[in-house]
Amino acid sequence: MASVKEVGVGDFVLMDKIDLDHFMENLELRFRHGFIYTYIGEVCISVNPYKNMNIYDQQHVEKYKGRELFENPPHVFAIADASHKVMKQQRKDTCIVISGESGSGKTEASKIIMKYIAAVTNQGKLPPLDGTDRTKGKHEIERVKNILIQSNAILEAFGNAKTNRNDNSSRFGKYMDIHFDFKGDPIGGHISNYLLEKSRVTAQQAGERNFHSFYQLLSGAGDDLLKRLRITRDSNQYFYVKQGNAAKVDTINDRNDFRNVTTSLNTLQFSKEDQDTLWKVVAAILHLGNVEFNINEEKLEVTRSQSVDNVAELLQVQKGELETALSERVIAARGDIMRKEHTESEATYGRDAFAKAIYERLFNWIVQKINAAIAVDASNFQKNYKSSLIGVLDIYGFEIFDNNSFEQFCINYCNEKLQQLFIDLVLKQEQEEYRSEGIEWTNIDYFNNQIICDLVEAPHQGVMAIMDDACKMTAEKVTDEMLLEAMDKKLKGHKHYMSRQTKQSEKSLRHKIDFRITHYAGDVTYCIIGFLDKNKDTLFQDFKRLLYNSKDANLKAMWPEGAQHITQITKRPPTAGTLFKTSMLELVKTLTNKQPHYVRCIKPNEIKSPSSFDYERVKHQVSYLGLIENVRVRRAGFAYRQRYDKFLKRYKMISQFTWPNFRSGSNSEAIKVLMKDVGLDNDVKYGITKIFIRSPKTLFALENSRNQL
Ligand code: ATP
Ligand code: MG
Repeated sequence: MASVKEVGVGDFVLMDKIDLDHFMENLELRFRHGFIYTYIGEVCISVNPYKNMNIYDQQHVEKYKGRELFENPPHVFAIADASHKVMKQQRKDTCIVISGESGSGKTEASKIIMKYIAAVTNQGKLPPLDGTDRTKGKHEIERVKNILIQSNAILEAFGNAKTNRNDNSSRFGKYMDIHFDFKGDPIGGHISNYLLEKSRVTAQQAGERNFHSFYQLLSGAGDDLLKRLRITRDSNQYFYVKQGNAAKVDTINDRNDFRNVTTSLNTLQFSKEDQDTLWKVVAAILHLGNVEFNINEEKLEVTRSQSVDNVAELLQVQKGELETALSERVIAARGDIMRKEHTESEATYGRDAFAKAIYERLFNWIVQKINAAIAVDASNFQKNYKSSLIGVLDIYGFEIFDNNSFEQFCINYCNEKLQQLFIDLVLKQEQEEYRSEGIEWTNIDYFNNQIICDLVEAPHQGVMAIMDDACKMTAEKVTDEMLLEAMDKKLKGHKHYMSRQTKQSEKSLRHKIDFRITHYAGDVTYCIIGFLDKNKDTLFQDFKRLLYNSKDANLKAMWPEGAQHITQITKRPPTAGTLFKTSMLELVKTLTNKQPHYVRCIKPNEIKSPSSFDYERVKHQVSYLGLIENVRVRRAGFAYRQRYDKFLKRYKMISQFTWPNFRSGSNSEAIKVLMKDVGLDNDVKYGITKIFIRSPKTLFALENSRNQL
């Protein structure tokens, strides 16, 4: 065995001295020796190894199954196991929150966790179905496990893309509840998805790709399918997938991935028709991107008629109606209905909005279908069971690009919310409890990012509210520039907000274009252009009606609002920003109600290298994640706490002084005598209503004594 000196300590709490330098030294030492996981108490820090590690096989699963954290080297398996154990033994809902910036390994961690849970549940050979509830249940559990795992391939195909930060970057947020029966076996689940970055469907920055699904189809589909979809294999033929000039990615095999996705679609019982709809929509978008517009003698013309033909054929709509929807829109003004021809730029806007909307609907439809396949089917299980659940959160990480727009603004806001939750649960509540229990405590300071959350979400004064106000004004008159002015006015003087207007000496910000937010994880400069459109998220009614009239039953079902007549539409739908904000608040509420476990991911370098440890980049992450403060609170704090009455009830039998009853005195007095008697009282503190135990080992010793009776 290598010594601690050589490979570092497995829990930062055990460091000789707690400061950033020592933390970094330990983290780097471990990374260089191939130890990618290290704890801070029950929080697991994970450094992306950028290479395959042989630590996820069955042997490792067995090693971690049912064990306590401190019994084995740090591993994300142990976190999954802890979460599963609490859920199973205490019938408490738990959650695993995985956070970290883009490319730090969140999605990989979430898949490793799911695989672990699948591996430790419903073990053994499947019995043949004999008509009994028991075997029926066991087969159902296997089916659910399969879907939970295989759904990843589909969701990643349609929701992930190559960005300049990560070849397989999640472009949507995912929160997945897994329901368990009383034995701790998974019986179903539910996925909630958050804001898909749909702008990628029509535009990509240099070096980036559209969603994987497009390239998978082009590389993986058989010639027959390509012919039916009227596409050729060459991605350079299609405007919507070639803008980033990065169709081929070293780390990605689109052809194989297409095959895997098809297998997963079959497992999840997407019918032939469903799969047909799916690829037809993807192909239709490819053709749609090639449709162009031209003004000829003051009249708008749709050029590339063949592409329009193809789109109509694939979406199963009338070509004439499609052409009309692309070139004009219906407007209702005081009961009158008029048609208005688009300008060239309106037509392009409409086309792009149409492409983005059908892709987004398709994605939501996929999630719904997966959810239907894993919905808990009570009839398969014994009566009166009550399921508990583990929620796994894997969301898009904090990101900074050369060009940051509305999507980055939402993604980074989401990361602020998760950091806030971490602060609240790990740093704030913990310290408040010590104080309220009268435990001697030296306050540990940390940066509270509430101020940045407020900057984004506060009613009236937050960026979201200012944006919504601008969107409510009579449509065409308000510009992005005016929005920026309104923001400048309201946010001037805010410590975390800046623009050229509020700080004229800041030459790196473009006048009337850029604003900067100092996020917890760093400064991000956003370009305001497009914010209003993206927030409004308008899709002309004509397109909705067009799709509702599609002969493809799946597509028709995705667009129920197309049935509405134009004069029936009175209410303005909520903006994209408001919808996102609401979903984030709900997510935080969901997570707060569960016992949380944390995996905090760190990206070791920008070059996806297994051997480079970019000291400054890592140090920056360690700082903003609040990890040093986490170690301090943890080190000075207590791993376990319990109310006196409950604690005494559980352990009174291990001491002759408290069994069968303590002669006279309060519960806390009884416990003091008990702990002294078993020789464990130097690791505890006595609060007003609770006993606090510093190390999990003490608890383990108590449990052992109890078991040996
Ligand atoms: P984003 O926020 O962009 O979605 P992410 O945090 O989800 O980023 P991942 O996609 O999980 O990042 O990881 C990026 C890449 O790093 C993976 O595609 C994989 O190549 C590598 N990687 C991450 N974790 C591991 C691991 N545990 N073992 C091996 N490789 C890993
Ligand atoms: Mg991801």
